[in-house]
Amino acid sequence: MPFEYAPAPESRAVVDLRPSYGLFVDGEFTAGSGTFTTVNPATEEVLAEVAEAGPADVDRAVAAARRAFGPWSALPARERGKYLFRIARILQERSRELAVLESLDNGKPIRESRDVDIPLAAAYFFYYAGWADKLGYAGLGPDPRPLGVAGQVIPWNFPLLMLSWKIAPALATGNTVVLKPAETTPLTALLFAEICRQADLPPGVVNIVTGAGATGQALVSHPGIDKIAFTGSTEVGKQIARSVAGTSKKVTLELGGKAANIVFDDAPMDQAVEGIVNGIFFNQGHVCCAGSRLLVQESAYDEVLERLKRRLGTLRLGDPLDKNTDVGAINSAAQLDRIRELSDAGDAEGAERWSPPCALPDRGFWFPPTVFTGVTQAHRIAREEVFGPVLSVLTFRTPAEAVEKANNTPYGLSAGVWSDKGSRALWTASKLRAGVVWQNTFNRFDPASPFGGFKESGYGREGGRHGLEAYLDV
Ligand code: NAD
Repeated sequence: MPFEYAPAPESRAVVDLRPSYGLFVDGEFTAGSGTFTTVNPATEEVLAEVAEAGPADVDRAVAAARRAFGPWSALPARERGKYLFRIARILQERSRELAVLESLDNGKPIRESRDVDIPLAAAYFFYYAGWADKLGYAGLGPDPRPLGVAGQVIPWNFPLLMLSWKIAPALATGNTVVLKPAETTPLTALLFAEICRQADLPPGVVNIVTGAGATGQALVSHPGIDKIAFTGSTEVGKQIARSVAGTSKKVTLELGGKAANIVFDDAPMDQAVEGIVNGIFFNQGHVCCAGSRLLVQESAYDEVLERLKRRLGTLRLGDPLDKNTDVGAINSAAQLDRIRELSDAGDAEGAERWSPPCALPDRGFWFPPTVFTGVTQAHRIAREEVFGPVLSVLTFRTPAEAVEKANNTPYGLSAGVWSDKGSRALWTASKLRAGVVWQNTFNRFDPASPFGGFKESGYGREGGRHGLEAYLDV
């Protein structure tokens, strides 16, 4: 039994939540063509009313970004770098406020927003700030040029972090941006807009338009956009790819995943169990590169399952603002429906469902950490992205079988290999068709490391030197 902790709630008072928020266009907050509300998924309480950008608003934002592009791209590169360093430092200074706001709007535990999302967002700005005056040395030609105006659309699972992955490399390379955050998590992007003002960023260099899919569509189909960067579902990614076919827009797509986390019988078991938990229950499993398919060598199956279940029994689910919480709320009612539907399909198709005893709060959107055993490759829970705290367990006997099963997916974003034997881990990694392969760890991010997919997980890379190329005319 886990021992009890006294509640340790983080204070909401550090956030100055306003009743309503406007669009951020040309350095000013302005009204949109409509409004929508954003709720706290842990309580269903309305947090704020947010402006919805229609096509005319998107047009204004793109025009502002176009006007700003000339002077911004003509700035000496080290001056652009200074703005990025300034933004990075403000992100650090205001990190507590950003972390609380992220947890309120997204439902993720404060421990994660405080220790992962916000520090990493700052790290991406620091990293790309350093590149701004060194682009001629990036191996992309002596004088690579920016593309122009970038239209960027991001999802709700890591709102500020995905913003940083998009905006930092775009600005470092001399582009200007119009970014659309997800409709369920717009608030940290709007606080970021304030930070741009605090950093004295020239108006129009960053514009934030809020709204749902229609706003995103208006942005990516706008003729004034030179480059599209999209992170989200494979379905919408395909629509975008179709809509830009035949245009000169450059596109990078970061889409879904169904990663295999492969545990060999010589794995360091304590670490492996932590890695399995981190791989699928971190951020409620709302992680594109989540290790949602556990492949365990048959000879280690009983040991891994026993240890895993024991560990899951110690996870604390509840108030995202409590510093003891491990598992927060599901981001939206729609996402909860999707998780329920796929889990029910797991039951119906004959897999065996297990969850630790865990009381769910009465209000809000919640799903317990869940493990399915007896899963076969044909099951929907082994093929489709659940994007929730649901692990499917499969087994294998030989390394070749592990690789065969791991690659048997339309996706290819990430994978994990757990083994104490270096040659085995390297052999396995070399056979996996995935953009990132972690060895004896999982869900580790570093701004210097490129990230992106194979197959239906998308194309293009974000992060690292590779991430510069997506924003440069090379
Ligand atoms: P989604 O594709 O529905 O939405 C993503 C964003 O696209 C949102 O801002 C949404 O408003 C916008 N959008 C929706 N329809 C659009 C359209 N027709 N044109 C333009 N924009 C549109 O995805 P979601 O459910 O919000 O996010 C979950 C998905 O994102 C998962 O499949 C996950 O794997 C993926 N994801 C991928 C990565 C990655 O780096 N590869 C990271 C995070 C999430």
